[in-house]
Amino acid sequence: MRLDRLLANQSQYSRKQVRELLRAGVVQVNGAVCHDGTQAIDRFAEVAIGTQVVRAGRAAHYFMLHKPAGCVSATADNEHTTVLDFFPEALRSELHIAGRLDLTSTGLMLLTNDGLWSRRLTLPGQRLGKVYRVRTEQPISAETAEVFARGIYFAFENRTTLPAELELLGSHEARLTLHEGRYHQVKRMFGHLRNKVLSLHREQMGMLHLDPELKPGQWRALSAAEIASV
Ligand code: URA
Repeated sequence: MRLDRLLANQSQYSRKQVRELLRAGVVQVNGAVCHDGTQAIDRFAEVAIGTQVVRAGRAAHYFMLHKPAGCVSATADNEHTTVLDFFPEALRSELHIAGRLDLTSTGLMLLTNDGLWSRRLTLPGQRLGKVYRVRTEQPISAETAEVFARGIYFAFENRTTLPAELELLGSHEARLTLHEGRYHQVKRMFGHLRNKVLSLHREQMGMLHLDPELKPGQWRALSAAEIASV
């Protein structure tokens, strides 16, 4: 909502008085003076007129979880544990997942209640690098890196995958960087070359690395620098 509308709705001041208060420099957003009534105010911002808090901001939460295998990236499931089950009950209804992983996949999962932030991570246009460690059933063939770099056409979606980078770590193991997130993408890319993914572990999303201190099922809050890196 715009700052001037929020002030007129939630204080005793008229629209004209709100304009005067903004001009006079007594309106603060998150502790900083703001003169611009058109500024968009999200639900996390604290808005004050002088020392009077007009609207207290809600706490924003940003977490990384080391997702174990066997739990689903969903808010509720009748059969399996969900990634939200690792969090205190009071937080569960607020959080959403920024970038899902399959049931059997492990590694970095980000959860937040800030929709603008998670959109920056997941919007297709962002082309943020997501780094996966992959173990396969068959040896990874010599052509794999080139095929992934060129992109693979999936008739099902009538789309070609964006160029992806493959770093070979062993005969059956590689690090793969994708710049998009399609359904079962890594498994389908290897499937295209008749190879099966046996394990898939996400190490990184953008600048955010899975904290090596976190064991499967453990989580921690992101630091201010990590939040700002998105
Ligand atoms: N690609 C997959 O196939 N599975 C995942 O969980 C993530 C990317």
